[in-house]
Amino acid sequence: MTKPSDLGPPIKGKPHEPPSDEGDHFYKCDISGQPVDMRDLRQVIWHEQPTHERLKPQVVKRS
Ligand SMILES: [Zn+2]
Repeated sequence: MTKPSDLGPPIKGKPHEPPSDEGDHFYKCDISGQPVDMRDLRQVIWHEQPTHERLKPQVVKRS
């Protein structure tokens, strides 16, 4: 049976992609305190206003 050591020195692998953390896409708005999804420019622009109301939470469906 072939042993791993027969195959030569170990070759270090690395993950194909860094694991994506859903929370990385959000920041907390200083004014409304709501989490803002940075992938959605509408939310970002809304929360950039000096005064604004909280946005109604929207469930984004992803396939
Ligand atoms: Zn806000």
